[in-house]
Amino acid sequence: MLSLKLYGPGDIRLVETAVPDINDDELLLKTDAAAICGTDIRMWKNGYKGVDQDHPLILGHEFSGTIAKAGKKVPFFKEGMRAAVQPNIGCGICDRCVAGSFHLCDDYRAFGINMDGGFAEYVKIPAEAVMRGNLMPLPEGVTAEEAAITEPVACALNGFNKCFVKPGDYALIVGAGPIGYSHAVLLHMAGALVLMNDLSRERLELCKKNLPFIQVYHGNDLEGFVMEWTNGKGLDIAITACPVPEVQAAVLPLMNYGGRVNFFGGIPARLQPVALDTNIVHYRELYLTGSTRSSIAHSRKILEFVSKGLIDIKSMITHRYGIHDILNAFENAAQARGMKHVIVF
Ligand SMILES: [Zn+2]
Ligand SMILES: [Zn+2]
Repeated sequence: MLSLKLYGPGDIRLVETAVPDINDDELLLKTDAAAICGTDIRMWKNGYKGVDQDHPLILGHEFSGTIAKAGKKVPFFKEGMRAAVQPNIGCGICDRCVAGSFHLCDDYRAFGINMDGGFAEYVKIPAEAVMRGNLMPLPEGVTAEEAAITEPVACALNGFNKCFVKPGDYALIVGAGPIGYSHAVLLHMAGALVLMNDLSRERLELCKKNLPFIQVYHGNDLEGFVMEWTNGKGLDIAITACPVPEVQAAVLPLMNYGGRVNFFGGIPARLQPVALDTNIVHYRELYLTGSTRSSIAHSRKILEFVSKGLIDIKSMITHRYGIHDILNAFENAAQARGMKHVIVF
């Protein structure tokens, strides 16, 4: 089979590898669609711990497929079933795993991060992933491509859930990439008014084209614009979907009393600590929250939202490629051309 392997910093190759063997308690998934994420680009550029010439890794943590082979001890799943994959596999034993937060497990493993992932024609689904619910049968009406991009939307849902969104809330998203897009879709579903801001006018325009309900602002007086847009009240919700310390500091003065802020994007460690005016949090009684990755429950909710037509995520896909064209896809994604780049098998 063909697979895309990472061999070290700046070194990805499309190579021929053996189709994985499976045990009686494992599954073999034939990949139908796999999406490129910013994490893949960072792993390509910077390399990843444990990955080198002798220990290459198949990338790809956003993917879906059809079960090609089911081990005879595997319950429920049958050959021919279509499924999406939630990439984070927890230890299953710690308190966070028991609470359903596999993505916060200290010993978590993830497809395409520290075990072989979805940029391959076939993926082995190990027994732990089968038994902990990482494989999610597709509800009716959900396409393979939509299933592949549920992971970033599920991460957005994790942040969204911390913001106690109410209809009519004024919400700002800084960062108009796939994550900002996902947040916009969810906030709109919940009845919030959505404003997006980004340094890239092109990305803002792309969002506006597909999500006509949003406001976009591209200029150097965000505060003035926000105050006018909210009739002088300030924001109820702010989501920072970018890795920029100044943005985290800049949203606090824009908040209304009781506002909720989600620091969605992590900040590179070398730029910490970030200077924040915590008196704003104090006097305006703000809720400052963070979120990272997503749980299986978040992913299943997104599949349900898509299946019921509550959100449209397929409009996020701007580029499609065959596996032979995957290096080109990585180049385009690294240049931040369009929005989501999906490999269709
Ligand atoms: Zn991702
Ligand atoms: Zn655990």
